[in-house]
Amino acid sequence: MSESMVRRDVLRAAFGALGAGALAGCVGAAQDGKKPVKEEDYVKTLQDSGSKAQDRVQGKMKITKLELLLVKPRWLFLKIHTDAGIVGLGEPIVEGRALTVKTAVEETAAYLVGKDPRAVVHHWQAIYRHAFYRGGPVLTSALSGIDQALWDIKGKALGVPVYELLGGPTRNRCRVYAHARSPEVVKEKKAQGFTAFKCGPSKLNDRWSRFVENPAYVQHVADQFGELRKAAGPDCDIGIDFHGAIQPGTAKQLVKALEPHTPMFIEEPVQCQNVDAMAEIARGTHLTIATGERIFTKWGFREILEKRAALILQPDLCHAGGITEGRLIAGMAEAYYATIAPHNPLGPISLAAGIQLSASIPNFLCQEQVSLGEGYVKQPLVVKNGYVDVPTGPGLGIELDDNAMADKIGHDWKNREAFDNDDGSVVDW
Ligand SMILES: [Mg+2]
Repeated sequence: MSESMVRRDVLRAAFGALGAGALAGCVGAAQDGKKPVKEEDYVKTLQDSGSKAQDRVQGKMKITKLELLLVKPRWLFLKIHTDAGIVGLGEPIVEGRALTVKTAVEETAAYLVGKDPRAVVHHWQAIYRHAFYRGGPVLTSALSGIDQALWDIKGKALGVPVYELLGGPTRNRCRVYAHARSPEVVKEKKAQGFTAFKCGPSKLNDRWSRFVENPAYVQHVADQFGELRKAAGPDCDIGIDFHGAIQPGTAKQLVKALEPHTPMFIEEPVQCQNVDAMAEIARGTHLTIATGERIFTKWGFREILEKRAALILQPDLCHAGGITEGRLIAGMAEAYYATIAPHNPLGPISLAAGIQLSASIPNFLCQEQVSLGEGYVKQPLVVKNGYVDVPTGPGLGIELDDNAMADKIGHDWKNREAFDNDDGSVVDW
C-alpha cells in the first residue's frame, strides 16, 4: 500500500468517526437525525483519531543510510534511505568540488543515521550550528542537499508535495528561463515554449574584459545583446549575467550601454564579496540587479537586502541552505519588495526543489533551468508558454529513472581556468 493511500485511509477513518457535520466544521449541529455532537466529544474523537493517524502515518522512522552518486555532467545526487522504505532525494554539490562535498555529506552520517528524518528544521540547525565553523560553500552545499532529501522524505511520508507543507500552493505553474547566448538559440528556445532567457557568460566579447574598457569593447557587448533582443522580441525577457567577472569600472560602462535594450536583470555585475561595490552599481542604474548564487544562508542575503545591492535574489537551493533556508530568504526579501529567482545550472533534483519553493512563496519571479529532467527522471517537465506545471506528486514530486541514468554515473568534471589574453594573468570566468 502506498504512503498516500495509508494517509487517505487514516483521514477517512478519522473524519468518518466524526460524521459529516464535523467534516464541515459544524460542531454541535444535528446531522441526518443523529444527536448533536458535543464539543468535548468532538475534541476527544479528534485527539484519538489524531494520535492513531500519527502512529500509522508518522509512526517511527529512522534514517538508515546516505547514498551518494556522481552523475554526469558534473552533479552529485544524494539518496537518504529510511527503514520505512522511503528514499529522499537531494543534490548537494559545489560545481568542480563534487568529491569534497561528497565527503562533507558522508561526515554527517554519524549524526543522521538512526534519527527520524522528519524533524527537518531541527536537523538543519544541528548540522549547521554544531559544525562550529558556520557556512561557506562546501558545508552549506552539503547541508542544502541533505535538507532537500529530508523535505522529500517528509512529503512522501505524508503523501503531499513539499509546497503543501510550506503553506502552498501560491501558484499552479512556474515560469522558467533558458540559457541562450546567440540569436539562433533564442529562436530555438522560443520555439520550444520559453519566453525568458539569460545570456552570458562573463566572456561577453571575444576577449576577457579589462579593468576599464574602451568604447569598442563596450559597444560590441551592447550590440550583441541588441541582436538577442531582436531575436526574442520586445515581449520576451532576457537577463544578462556578468558572472562576477567584470571589474566595477567596466561594469558601470556596460550597464549604461545596455540600458536602452532593457535587460530583465543584470546578474552579478561584480563579485558579491564586497556588497557595497554592488550596491553602488545598483544605485547608478534603473535596471534591476540580481545576485545570489554565491551567497549562503539568511545571513548572507541580509546584507544584500539591507544595502539594496539587488532586488532579484537568486539563492541556489543546492548552495544557500536548501528549501528550509530558501523559504526564510524569500520572507526576508518580501520585506524589501525583492523577488526570488532560484539559481540552478544543475540537475533535476535542484530544479524540483526550486519549483517546490516557488509554489509556496508569494514573491517568485522565474526559475533557472538547464535540464527539464530528460534522461534523469521518469516524468520530465514540459514548458508551455514560458511555464511548467507544478508537479503534484509527493515530496519533491520527481522519481529518478535509474535505467535512463545508468550511462550517466560517474564524472571527473573540472572547473575551467582562465587567463588574460594579453599578459597571461589570472582572470575570473
Ligand atoms: Mg550567474
